[in-house]
Amino acid sequence: MSKILEIFNTMEYGPAPEAPDAVKAWLDEHGRKFGLFINNEWVTPKGAKFYSSINPANGELLAETTQAGQKEVDAAVGAAREAFGTWSKTPGVTRARYLYAIARNLQKHSRLLAVLESMDNGKPIRESRDIDVPLLARHFYYYAGWAQLMETELRDYQPVGVVGQIIPWNFPLLMLAWKIAPAIAMGNTVVLKPASYTRLTALLFAEIVAEAGLPAGVVNVITGSSSAGSMIVEHPDVDKIAFTGSTDVGRTLRKQTAGSGKKLSLELGGKSPFVVFDDADLDGAVEGVVDAIWFNQGQVCCAGSRLIVQENVAGKFIQKLKNRMQHMRVGDPLDKSIDMGAIVDQSQWDTIDGWVKTGIAEGGECFQPNIALPEKGLFYKPTLITGLDPAAATVQEEIFGPVLVSLTFRTPSEAIELANNTRYGLAASVWSDNINLALDVASKIKAGSVWVNCTNQFDGASGFGGYRESGYGREGGREGLFEYLRPTWMDRPRPEFVLDEKKKWGEHVPTLPASRQPTVARANGHSLPLVDRTPKMYIGGKQVRPDGAYTSSVLSAKGKLVGQVGDGNRKDIRDAVEAAHKARTSGWAMRHGYNRSQILYFIAENLDARNAEFVKRIVEMTGRTQKSAQAEVDASVERLFTYAAWADKYGGTVQETTLRGITVAVNEPMGVIGIACPDENPLLGFISLMAPAIARGNSVVMIPSQKYPLSAMDFYQVLDTSDVPGGVVNIVTGDRDHLVKTLVQHEDVDSVWYFGSAEGSYHVENESAANMKRTWTGYGLPRDWMDREQGEGHEFLHEATQVKNIWVPTGE
Ligand code: NAP
Repeated sequence: MSKILEIFNTMEYGPAPEAPDAVKAWLDEHGRKFGLFINNEWVTPKGAKFYSSINPANGELLAETTQAGQKEVDAAVGAAREAFGTWSKTPGVTRARYLYAIARNLQKHSRLLAVLESMDNGKPIRESRDIDVPLLARHFYYYAGWAQLMETELRDYQPVGVVGQIIPWNFPLLMLAWKIAPAIAMGNTVVLKPASYTRLTALLFAEIVAEAGLPAGVVNVITGSSSAGSMIVEHPDVDKIAFTGSTDVGRTLRKQTAGSGKKLSLELGGKSPFVVFDDADLDGAVEGVVDAIWFNQGQVCCAGSRLIVQENVAGKFIQKLKNRMQHMRVGDPLDKSIDMGAIVDQSQWDTIDGWVKTGIAEGGECFQPNIALPEKGLFYKPTLITGLDPAAATVQEEIFGPVLVSLTFRTPSEAIELANNTRYGLAASVWSDNINLALDVASKIKAGSVWVNCTNQFDGASGFGGYRESGYGREGGREGLFEYLRPTWMDRPRPEFVLDEKKKWGEHVPTLPASRQPTVARANGHSLPLVDRTPKMYIGGKQVRPDGAYTSSVLSAKGKLVGQVGDGNRKDIRDAVEAAHKARTSGWAMRHGYNRSQILYFIAENLDARNAEFVKRIVEMTGRTQKSAQAEVDASVERLFTYAAWADKYGGTVQETTLRGITVAVNEPMGVIGIACPDENPLLGFISLMAPAIARGNSVVMIPSQKYPLSAMDFYQVLDTSDVPGGVVNIVTGDRDHLVKTLVQHEDVDSVWYFGSAEGSYHVENESAANMKRTWTGYGLPRDWMDREQGEGHEFLHEATQVKNIWVPTGE
């Protein structure tokens, strides 16, 4: 009695432990030893090595799991390949039934999944039970819907093939759902490798999926170390890699898959800002911070780990936060009333502790509440570090633990600058009672998800993914489907090239004078040299001479000189990028679609007015017939019409998430796109790539066809007369690979499109790993630019944009 009275007086929580018995029974049933799940069967390779799965909360051994090697990876990929034949042809409505059955089955086993997740990972049962597992089922329901609708709504697409999926340890089940559900919904088959620290729930999931009757080989789960992951990535029979994990490993994967024609999506790290304005509900924002950084012990890719508070309320806010931290409960993950569980592994604990020491060494003031931690197990106190310089490593680098750093700002523009002062761009949280201000800031922060007056919102109906070094591709929503689809006309690219290791890619010796200048005959019998019309570069809306003062010749099909163009160099590209940035920041992206569409129509009108001249030029350079050149010019005008149409019809959608409020997916421009054009169709290739990019608010640096550059150079006169602001389209002629190398290495170029050779495609992808630039390459394979299916449409718009989801709760 006195105990109850005591509790009543102190309002202390008593322990509310969840029983681990069912999990123990499941582990025992497997003899606490697991094989690999291939073709719906457990496979234990002879002489296999095993890895111990440990409960980080108490150090107990949970089970041994197999370390897959090459033979097992081959077997799993083989099973997936075999199953792909049937699964990809299974009607969408049938696949929908399977996904639905999986979702139902997951719900039936939800408690077992949640308890195992908490025991394997250390996360509070409150989170695994109420967030991870419900979202797991939600994703299968959501994508069951897309399987049902695929044949009618996505009829121009086909599945990609066998997909290798590699996931991290922080949300083992949720990451698995984000990857497997859309993949199999679209008719792909998968080989999934969970992270080593958290392998068990993926194995339980595999069993539940088989129980739901999914055909053998559609989902294969193999456990193993990073080298097994690497084997999946390198496997020639894998068509796509979907990876979630650290930016460093993402970089390795980009290099490994470069030039292979495998699709790649990367969901990487983050250092997300949590911005609090002085008019925000400060108590609500404090709870938001708790959710943002101490959810899952801060081991969250999108954790709001950088608090940015308006200076005039910073003191008050930090004090409220410290008071709140004093009441946080850290302890047994299976206790339903704790806020934070255990850190996943000792090495992660050491990394976190190392960062806290670095933060202090960098001059930060460290606050940790005076709360008790369990004596045993990997627990870490919620930590706040104030007083750091925005450039400090602790402020810039992802800690991936319960450590919050805080900064202050005075004006909204300073807040935006601080928020964007990071190489990452995964998520952000903005808190203000002024909804206009909050939405303006949300639109200016470079991140894939922005939560207004809320944080860490996820749902199957909304895409999640990064800007900048947080990766590319989206998981969730309709936008997440495109990672698992290929246009129906396109086969899996299998580029062929031999890498010349000795030759340095992109090296270029400027060309020397070549053929003789053509002359023109006059009536008096004299022949005169033509008045020189060597086009210059087109940068910032002006014609400029090439920086290197070198010129190269353009020859006709018969080897006759038809003109000369500047031979561009690095400096020309750098100037063009600068001009493109100026155009962007001076408002091209902010113009409304109507205005951009008017300009595209105007370009079309002016091009059509000079139709004959462009036809003549194509004939002259390529030796093609008049008829074929005419068809190309007509198609170019038509293509401009297409993107004038799309300029105000691809802004985004309202997502039907579970949030009570509004979730808007905005298709934002990429920024500055560097575009290397193909040689086939010198005018149409150029316009097919330029038009979607500028229609969607990007500014571009164009490298025209190297062989036939003159159509693009004639085109700048059309741009000049069409109200295109200077710097939106910049044109640099010269050696394609030499120029594109500078573009792909440039820190201020957001994306590179390359339609040159297979080897060049390899180099572009390989070089892009340095700053995780998004790329789109043609692998040197043919594309029929005249064909509307291949030369325009959604694929182009998709590449020209990145999706930002903005979440705004509504209500009083
Ligand atoms: P990680 O070290 O990059 O590992 C992720 C996965 O990749 C694991 O399965 C790992 O296997 C495997 N792996 C490691 N090296 C590999 C290689 N060379 N080739 C192929 N596979 C390889 O990341 P982590 O420490 O598990 O997870 C934390 C990171 O994930 C953080 O940076 C976090 O921000 C990020 N994350 C991002 C998102 C997102 O949606 N953007 C979501 C969650 C987490 P082993 O475990 O066997 O080493």
